[in-house]
Amino acid sequence: MLAAVLRGRDDLRLEERPRPVAGPGELVLRVHQCGVCGSDLRTFTRGPSARYAVPVVLGHEFVGTVIEVGAVGDAAAAIPTGARVTVAPAIPCGACEACRRGSDNLCAELLDFGINIDGGLAEYVRIPARSVAAGAVVVVADDLSDDAAILGEPIGTCLRGLRRGSVTARSIVVIIGDGPIGLTHAVVARELGARRVLCVGHNAARLAVIGRAGAETLVVDAGTDEAGAILAALGTRADTVVAAVPDPRALEAAVRVIRDGGSVVAFGGLAGDPTIQLDGNRLHYGEWTLVGSFNCTTAEFREAIDLAGRLDPRRFEATRFPIHRIADAFLAAAGRTVLKAVVTMEPPP
Ligand SMILES: [Zn+2]
Ligand SMILES: [Zn+2]
Repeated sequence: MLAAVLRGRDDLRLEERPRPVAGPGELVLRVHQCGVCGSDLRTFTRGPSARYAVPVVLGHEFVGTVIEVGAVGDAAAAIPTGARVTVAPAIPCGACEACRRGSDNLCAELLDFGINIDGGLAEYVRIPARSVAAGAVVVVADDLSDDAAILGEPIGTCLRGLRRGSVTARSIVVIIGDGPIGLTHAVVARELGARRVLCVGHNAARLAVIGRAGAETLVVDAGTDEAGAILAALGTRADTVVAAVPDPRALEAAVRVIRDGGSVVAFGGLAGDPTIQLDGNRLHYGEWTLVGSFNCTTAEFREAIDLAGRLDPRRFEATRFPIHRIADAFLAAAGRTVLKAVVTMEPPP
């Protein structure tokens, strides 16, 4: 099978590999398509962090058809050959303290597709028994398109982030970031009923797409006073600000934009020195809340698939690339000439 294998920084190769085989309780999927995530791009352009088990097949936003079910294991038997499924990217152990608390996104023994086990940017992917047992494999309803089915992780993570930022139907929400995750936050915030959603970034073309998805947008030049520009555009303060870029300055801008009692969500992993400077008195007297948000739980992933079915996937503006053009997909997404790259596999003959 063809697989997009990350071997190091700027080193992603399309390789011929043996098709995986399902062990006990495992599944093998024939992948239909797989989204390219910001984390895939970051790993490609900056090089894999210590968590990555390179060489590894990238990709965690995939949908496919079950072609093989490994014998034994009652949970695996519940998902038959021929089922169309999508799979939560994070595979919790189910046994550690975080998992037992229900915070399986914080599992101490987390396995992740495309990070420390082979992912879905390939013609076939093996789903570990642990993933099946965790309920992370979701059978996709017939009326849910493949385009919608790959949105489980981006929608689930944004749903978690917005909830951790206490977004309600009355909220004024600012999202710092004009990438696919900024767009997803905007769509999900609207779905939660947020009164106003303002998306802020540097890339006018991308913000135009986000504007079509239903958000107000603000283009700021790098190096300008971002918080001042946001306050001027809003005409008021925000209830919630989501910092969805890898820049610690976004968090510093965010705390200057929220109202007293408001929330700042640290959504993006930060590149370089992640130290931030905060005004402790504003934190105290303004009673604001600073929360992190990382991944999503298996339950949130399943909820996100339901939500995806109610959203028009065209709002997410995917640009499709066949797997033999994987390099173009990464260069286009990393070069920001497309918003969201989705890699499609050849259908079987
Ligand atoms: Zn992703
Ligand atoms: Zn765990």
